Amino acid sequence: MISVEDKDDDGADGLRKIIHVDMDAFFASVEQRDNPDLRGKPVAVGGSSGRGVVAAASYEARKFGVKSAMPSVTAKRLCPDLIFVKSRFDAYREVSQQIRAIFRHHTDLVEPLSLDEAYLDVTEDKLGIGSATRIAELIRQEIRAKTRLTASAGVSYNKFLAKLASDQNKPDGMCVIRPGEGADFVQSLPVRRFHGVGPKGAEKMDRLGIQTGAELAAKDIEWLRAHFGSFADYLYRAARGIDLRPVRSSRIRKSVGGERTFSRDLSSGSELRETLEDIIDIVWGYIERAEAKGRTVTLKMKYIDFQIFSRAKTVDQPITDRAQFEALSRQLLEEVLPLPMPIRLMGLTLSKLEGGKEEPRRPDAQLSLL
Ligand SMILES: [Mg+2]
Repeated sequence: MISVEDKDDDGADGLRKIIHVDMDAFFASVEQRDNPDLRGKPVAVGGSSGRGVVAAASYEARKFGVKSAMPSVTAKRLCPDLIFVKSRFDAYREVSQQIRAIFRHHTDLVEPLSLDEAYLDVTEDKLGIGSATRIAELIRQEIRAKTRLTASAGVSYNKFLAKLASDQNKPDGMCVIRPGEGADFVQSLPVRRFHGVGPKGAEKMDRLGIQTGAELAAKDIEWLRAHFGSFADYLYRAARGIDLRPVRSSRIRKSVGGERTFSRDLSSGSELRETLEDIIDIVWGYIERAEAKGRTVTLKMKYIDFQIFSRAKTVDQPITDRAQFEALSRQLLEEVLPLPMPIRLMGLTLSKLEGGKEEPRRPDAQLSLL
């Protein structure tokens, strides 16, 4: 473990204290924890056959170049001894709840990015510890004690830097970027490490001659706007170690919905209709619990070639009863039948909501370059 000394100066006047906590090789680590036979071995969580994709790879597997989102076939070629295990989302969700409880022990300003990652604003912490570095250390210890898993943490004065910092000394590491250090830190890094710059974004920057934070910082805002549109302002600030986004613990819900991925492909009309009924059940349950009243119903499907398509219907008055929601959902399906190819996923969403309860922020909220 690499840890940076705490000089207790991470709360300079007027600056926020932000921690980004990220579990190490999360799904794979949970599998190794629960099955000792997997420890010390290259493990991939995900399906091994056909069009399977690696959802997570253990550090032993990463040494061979195995990465998440990689086709399983490719992963197997890179690492012939790779052990594939099926994902167990219930187990991951349980750990996720444990770590969120630990976070909330210190602050209510917790913004999850996914099951295993979150930003915390500890400018004012509940226990009055005062030092963000100390809090991050305590959180890592508490996570290890409660879950028998390791987490890395980044500490800084904004979200962008905190996230870069948590990645700096992975696994089981920590890094602190203090006021005054952000710009230099960012400019020394490759832009592909910036949150929001995905592989495609990094490629685009590379084509434009930008590989490092320093090269990005050399571009003016007009140039960035011409090439990156609405993403330009974020990039301009990021290259200077500035990020004005607050940690958002909740948001007003914009939609309520759910979707299901199937283990087999669905193509016949009767199968699709049956599946739709199941999804109506699930989603209407969410709608009732959220007391959501919306005017748009969207049906989404993913073909076996991963292309996603959706169809929506908007009505004038908020939908208040299930019969109407059902009718609109069925109508949407009938309009697209027969499908040109089988599907793997179906989902329904109700949006254009009025009022409704405040809901936890969606964990998948992401910046996007494209
Ligand atoms: Mg992680």
